[in-house]
Amino acid sequence: MSLTVVGSIAFDTVTTPTGTRERMLGGAATHFALAASYFDRVHLVGPVGNDFGEEHMDVLRTRGSNVDDVELVAGGETFFWQGEYGWDLNTRETIDTQLNVFESFEPKLSETSRACDLLFLANIQPQLQLQVLDQCGSPGYVALDSMNLWIEIARDALVEVIRRVDCVTLNDAELRQLTDKPNLITAAREVLDWGPSVVVAKQGEYGAALVTEDGYFALPAYPLPQVVDPTGAGDTFAGGFLGYIARNIDQAADGDVLRNAMAYGSALASFNVEDFGTERLQELVAEEVVARVDDLQGFSSFQHAEIELSGEPPRVAASGNQTSRETP
Ligand code: AMP
Repeated sequence: MSLTVVGSIAFDTVTTPTGTRERMLGGAATHFALAASYFDRVHLVGPVGNDFGEEHMDVLRTRGSNVDDVELVAGGETFFWQGEYGWDLNTRETIDTQLNVFESFEPKLSETSRACDLLFLANIQPQLQLQVLDQCGSPGYVALDSMNLWIEIARDALVEVIRRVDCVTLNDAELRQLTDKPNLITAAREVLDWGPSVVVAKQGEYGAALVTEDGYFALPAYPLPQVVDPTGAGDTFAGGFLGYIARNIDQAADGDVLRNAMAYGSALASFNVEDFGTERLQELVAEEVVARVDDLQGFSSFQHAEIELSGEPPRVAASGNQTSRETP
């Protein structure tokens, strides 16, 4: 089994109420790979510049991930992002985005990266996501993430990619923005109508919701007394969620496979936010992840002990003068 991820590999400058960290290793593909590497071999695809050192490459290689398709662009600078969080960490403002080496990047996937079982098109220009999809033929499962910037400036290309994937993971606000629908369920259903069979709405500290043609499932976020840096939580969630699906690629991606995938995604994301950047995921051991998945099961399951409630059904008059209930 193998997973291929294409997306940003970045330096991030992040300010949270805990402090500011400058030019930490980050990026959507980086955070995804650190999480997905617990499940399967990950192949990273993306460009980096001369400022990207061997110590950064070593972090990408954590748990055996393959960096053969991480392209060093001579004379170029690595993608840079700067963000600042509000006091409760629920709001984030992008201060700066510098595409740098991504501006002229043309993905060229090796035979091994193309032959993956699962392809994740992590957050990056939708036009690049399309080029990767064209090269990959037909992996067993394809998922996509994106963000408000691309919805604003490249919506048509983004919708084109969405039509070709199995699963979309977006923040709830991005789902509303993409579809211009104020209601989350209606927004998710519209995206399902475009082709994917699964939509995951990430909801930050409130957890994540999964919408399929005939089902709905939701999990809370793992309750933490302190969040240090939420950057990359969405990508880490995606790494856990899709890592679990990749490990079960011979089964249909529905029912309990999707529910377990949600739990592994949530558990991994909860570790990511406990420290700045990639620090927590570099040292995290498998037992810790499994313990939080167990906890999440406990937090969200209950036995329905039914009781009799008051409330009669509306009376129907004997003849003529019938009370009617209007359908909302
Ligand atoms: P998340 O917190 O899950 O939304 O992901 C944050 C990561 O996305 C950071 O590490 C950034 O480097 C990366 N990022 C921010 N803006 C963009 C963008 N426009 N395109 C691709 N990646 C981005």
